[in-house]
Amino acid sequence: MIIKDIELFQLELPMERAFSTSLHTVKEAESTVIRIVSKEGLVGWGEASPSEMVTGDSNAAIQGFIEDWLKPQLLGENIENLEKITSIIQNSAIGNTSAKAAAEMAVYDLFGQQLGVPVYQFLGGYQNRLETDLTVSVSDAQEMEQDAIRAVERGFRTLKLKVGKNLQEDLERVETVRYAVSSEINIRLDANQGWQPKEAVEIIREMEELGLDLELVEQPVPAQDLTGLKFVRDNVLTPIMADESLFSPRDAIRLIKEDCCDIFNIKLMKAGGLSQALMINSVAEAAGIQCMLGCMLESKIAITAAAQLAGACRNITRLDLDAPLLLAEDPVQGGISYQGSQIELPSAPGLGITGADNLTKIN
Ligand SMILES: [Mg+2]
Repeated sequence: MIIKDIELFQLELPMERAFSTSLHTVKEAESTVIRIVSKEGLVGWGEASPSEMVTGDSNAAIQGFIEDWLKPQLLGENIENLEKITSIIQNSAIGNTSAKAAAEMAVYDLFGQQLGVPVYQFLGGYQNRLETDLTVSVSDAQEMEQDAIRAVERGFRTLKLKVGKNLQEDLERVETVRYAVSSEINIRLDANQGWQPKEAVEIIREMEELGLDLELVEQPVPAQDLTGLKFVRDNVLTPIMADESLFSPRDAIRLIKEDCCDIFNIKLMKAGGLSQALMINSVAEAAGIQCMLGCMLESKIAITAAAQLAGACRNITRLDLDAPLLLAEDPVQGGISYQGSQIELPSAPGLGITGADNLTKIN
């Protein structure tokens, strides 16, 4: 199956409402969709979501990199040589992890279509039903309380609260939500690098003393501060998860060697695609570290690829794949389906994406 063409599109993703983390606020998202077309006319789908504040990738940079740099290296390659193609993608340049992730999705999609099996099956085949959390955007405590109650009513059993704005207000936010929902509801926090190490220890210890029963705290301190991350991990009982501190398999090894955290948050956009995410998960599993699979503001194309990976790996024990649920409408046909917090993987070969609306062709 020879790669004949690579098409790029811009995809509009109107949000149901503005979404805020400690890093930024997003009102409407746009991503880049890639379609790799084989000589036989089969189409592999992929998506790159820009994240200027995390990966440094913008849509323009993603599109330019694929069109001018990656496409000439991939045209004419045979999809059956999966490892050769992922090597070309990974070694094509440093950085550009979102563009690489999108290209790999489309390649794995075609590879699965060639084999006639869903991606999660040829990657290992662990399960085809998964459960995701729902993220509560950071705002004032009362608004977050209402959002949390609504999420529980929709069937979500795990809530991820965005914090990291201001210590006292963060404490109030978490306390308010914790007392508003049943003790059976799992609460995880994501500070998105918003605290300094000593502040993080102070606030997490206070939450522990109040019995707020947190499942974990994600990326309490700035991404590059691994000493600070380790300081937090060593001084609280709550498990600490690395997100922005973890991009590549090499980062994973460093975090393990330096004993910086308890859990990893893998995202395809940070890792640079399925091949690298698989490697991170393997390194983690060998070190006794469980993984969560997270996402940026992505449509169901990239989320389906992430869910296929999660369905293949026993060590991916947590999912934060809620981005399509935050959109005003879902422009993608096929792929995963949601029922409350439950995700079902498609049984179609490859990723199972069949089409998308709101696409504007670029190249
Ligand atoms: Mg995070």
